[in-house]
Amino acid sequence: MHFSRFPRTRLAHLPTALEPMPRLSDALGGPELWIKRDDCTGLSTGGNKTRKLEFLMAEALCEGTDLIVTQGATQSNHARQTAAFAARLGMACHILLEDRTGSNEPSYNANGNVFLDYLHGATVERRPGGLDMNAEIEDVADRFRSQGRKVYTIPGGGSNATGALGYANCAMELVNQANCMELRIDHIVHATGSAGTQAGLITGLKAINVNIPLLGIGVRAPKAQQEANVLRLAQATAEKLGCPGVVGAEDVVANTDYVGDGYGILTPGGIEAIEMFARLEGILLDPVYSGKGAAGLIDLIRKGHFEKGERVLFIHTGGSAALFGYTPAFGYDDTPIAA
Ligand SMILES: *Cc1c(COP(=O)(O)O)cnc(C)c1O
Repeated sequence: MHFSRFPRTRLAHLPTALEPMPRLSDALGGPELWIKRDDCTGLSTGGNKTRKLEFLMAEALCEGTDLIVTQGATQSNHARQTAAFAARLGMACHILLEDRTGSNEPSYNANGNVFLDYLHGATVERRPGGLDMNAEIEDVADRFRSQGRKVYTIPGGGSNATGALGYANCAMELVNQANCMELRIDHIVHATGSAGTQAGLITGLKAINVNIPLLGIGVRAPKAQQEANVLRLAQATAEKLGCPGVVGAEDVVANTDYVGDGYGILTPGGIEAIEMFARLEGILLDPVYSGKGAAGLIDLIRKGHFEKGERVLFIHTGGSAALFGYTPAFGYDDTPIAA
């Protein structure tokens, strides 16, 4: 894999740290847990979309773009990181936010990532749930093009073969780090949604032939659909990288048992995972992705899915800004402020 063949705008803080989680490992009494801090990629509270945006926004720059149009759920981390990246490059950013949860919580609809979208200067339009959002952004882009704007559209989650290059590169980065640290890694676990992260990682891991199993914990789609989405994108990514055929169906594994009532709806396991990471390791997860991913990791450890003595790496994909859209779900302090 030769990433220098592709245009790239280097704004992410890389490599991200690879660190042990000793207190969480002790508390669970299972495998030795490590974490890769892709929540600390730099721009606007960080997260996994920044690696994808390095390749996507470079393409936009090559095309002379003045306006980025993208989409996501109301508390989209992708939208927020895109708004920040666009700000840094002096481009305008227009975001379509889809109401996927039906939540009327004021904090969900206006705080967290939504607040940051506006803070970065993006313009925002809302959409009801259930539309084909990638078709919606193309319609909106055409509207802007007819006004003479030079528009580049980015699909939800930045998940196409260009964006997934960022995670193929992450696979190479983390294996290099582990080799330098003489750290054997037995499993990698992370949250999977729009599929670009898992597709990129598995493409990278297979292309460098390291034989570390990768497990995506789903946050939305059923298992068969999620695995099909990841496989399709991994195959396109491998083709783009010049190693077609390296990823087979057997390499793509998603566990979707931790979605709960649906995308963006917090689960008891998610709350427990967020509290454990915060209280044992001082690390902030998020309610939509990494919290559910960690809930899956914790439950699988309790069920004996991993051997004691194995080393499991959790890739922290970010999202902590969304916590501020979900504070009521934690129920910490309902005491009214004294008059
Ligand atoms: C988008 C996102 C994911 C999922 O990554 P995909 O590439 O969409 O599968 C995981 N965690 C966080 C915090 C995210 O924002």
